[in-house]
Amino acid sequence: MVIVMKPNATQKQISDVSNLLLSLDLKPHISRGEERVVIGVIGDKKKLKEKNVELMEGVEKVIPIVESYKLASRTFNPVSTIVDVNGVSIGGKNIVIMAGPCAVESKEQLLESAEAVKKFGAKFLRGGAYKPRTSPYSFQGLEKEGLEMLYEAKKYTGLKIVTEVMDIHSIEIVSKYADVLQIGARNMQNFSLLKEIGRSNMPVLLKRGIAATIEEWLNAAEYILSEGNKNVILCERGIRTFEQYTRNTLDLSAVPVIKKLSHLPIIVDPSHGTGKSFLVSPMAKAAIAAGADGLIIEVHPDPKNALSDGAQSLTPKEFEALTKEISKVANAVGRDFI
Ligand code: PEP
Ligand code: MN
Repeated sequence: MVIVMKPNATQKQISDVSNLLLSLDLKPHISRGEERVVIGVIGDKKKLKEKNVELMEGVEKVIPIVESYKLASRTFNPVSTIVDVNGVSIGGKNIVIMAGPCAVESKEQLLESAEAVKKFGAKFLRGGAYKPRTSPYSFQGLEKEGLEMLYEAKKYTGLKIVTEVMDIHSIEIVSKYADVLQIGARNMQNFSLLKEIGRSNMPVLLKRGIAATIEEWLNAAEYILSEGNKNVILCERGIRTFEQYTRNTLDLSAVPVIKKLSHLPIIVDPSHGTGKSFLVSPMAKAAIAAGADGLIIEVHPDPKNALSDGAQSLTPKEFEALTKEISKVANAVGRDFI
């Protein structure tokens, strides 16, 4: 349930409502919008049954939350969340680009990618050290050695690091090297992993599951939020449909839907969303036009010889061209890039 205060409610009236909640062992969650304050109620709302909160001074109305994902919903928290990743904001006016290879393959490959993506405006270096591959015989990632290479690239370029954590056991080690923990599409409903990451305070990039509805995806976010971690960034990366031409079907309508239903920031992955490098730039532009807060893009110095996802990886030159286009689209929709 949320308690919507009147536009002219005083601080005392807001505190009176908060104190009533606290006295009943309920937790108030205060969102200050441009016009009014909304107080979300965390805990068993039955305790408020006979309190006639609607009649308290400064209260405009009390609305029940009908969504199953309460903390992730915009009803509960009408003000858009901006996730701060060690000084870089995601969800604000600036478009943030995360870019780099699918997998960390070698020091040289990673540094070359890092320098290129930094030069053209990326704020994050992506790269998997632990890779969820469809076949157990495919390259599985360099694991700890890969994390060390990411850390070195971070020290060298100043880029933040986003990398995947595949299981509970590796949360601790990945958190030592990464700025953002990526939860891959295949793990979106790995509830024990979600809960454990929810107990940490690390920013999380939660990719949409291959066959997940938007509601399931927001409930996955709820698992993380309900454990106390508020730093959730959603990532639309395409879903499986009957279409065979593209690797996945990039559901860009999810962007405005998420903006309507949730306060969480959302970025788009046109690389996995299409599987083909020529589609990455057009879909990246469309994503920003649709309201996405950023992009995650695979860039490799030599895509033809990449150990994974070469077909969808951009060369540094192609990435440069994309960033120029993104800058124009961002400006056209009232956002900034770089
Ligand atoms: C990746 O980012 O390389 C990746 C494996 O993504 P997804 O989980 O979306 O397939
Ligand atoms: Mn990949």
